[in-house]
Amino acid sequence: MPLLSIVIPAYNEDKMVVKAAEVLTQLMEKEKIEAELIFINDGSKDQTWMEIERASKLFSNVKGLSFSRNFGKEAAILAGLEHAKGDCCVVIDCDLQHPPETIIQMYSLWQDGYELIEGVKASRGSEGKLHGFFSKSFYRLINRATGFDMSKSSDFKLLDRKVIDAYLRLPERKLFFRALSYWLGFKSIEVEYEVQDRLAGETKWSFSSLVKYALNNITSFSTAPMQIVTFVGFVFFLFAIVLGIQSMINYFSGQSLAGFTTVILLQLGIGSLIMMSLGIMGYYISKIYEEVKRRPRYIVSVSTENERK
Ligand code: UDP
Ligand code: MG
Repeated sequence: MPLLSIVIPAYNEDKMVVKAAEVLTQLMEKEKIEAELIFINDGSKDQTWMEIERASKLFSNVKGLSFSRNFGKEAAILAGLEHAKGDCCVVIDCDLQHPPETIIQMYSLWQDGYELIEGVKASRGSEGKLHGFFSKSFYRLINRATGFDMSKSSDFKLLDRKVIDAYLRLPERKLFFRALSYWLGFKSIEVEYEVQDRLAGETKWSFSSLVKYALNNITSFSTAPMQIVTFVGFVFFLFAIVLGIQSMINYFSGQSLAGFTTVILLQLGIGSLIMMSLGIMGYYISKIYEEVKRRPRYIVSVSTENERK
């Protein structure tokens, strides 16, 4: 019988861990799907790891890893995928905002031969106004930059072993799970689900972490910002030629003093453009720097596996 691995990243989710383990285990038993649950404690500051250990004692199919610090959800997903032994693997949020029943639907699509089953949000659930606004703008931007519509996509996906292996072979340090599955290809299908309300705890996204997430993912997925600068630079160059000709005419007709404004405007314009492009280039250089360091993407400090030995 095929084994389904369920990867569950958890950051400060002590109220949810055992609940999630229970709900998922019961569901899998009911549907007669053989499953393992892998909780990844992403350096939580609360009792999450204790709760994961408790869950692993309560349910024999629950495993856990604990990071040495908070490495972020992407790293947690990756660690889960690396430790998954299943023939297919589903990634789901610990807060049960992704309805567990959808896994069954995904699983049967997998049995029908699909290799990548993507959960897409039917609606975005209850989100703060500001959060909603920024995530919408983020996706609009990313859509423009990459040509993929990701506004409804999420990390809730089921991956066939082939897809997991392909994903794990990607060499870059900073991954973007949501989007890279588009890049990977494979026989895929979408499944709609309704985002549920969080049962306990609170969202881990602060405003600054969202901005960081957006910047990181736009730059890791496209070089469009660099091209925009080149384009703006080109337009500005045309503009400069026109202005240059005009000031030459002014000069030869003896009205050059009036050109002071132009000089100042040009100074400002060019100055800001240079700064802008330097900033963007700097950002890419810092990404190159991050990648060439070849640091591990996460560090595991404890896992329920080696405790059992
Ligand atoms: N999460 C994580 N590491 C982080 C932030 C979040 O592993 O640094 C996990 C979190 O425990 C949850 C999932 O990612 O299982 C989604 O987080 P959250 O519910 O806060 O995001 P939202 O649903 O509000 O987008
Ligand atoms: Mg959530």
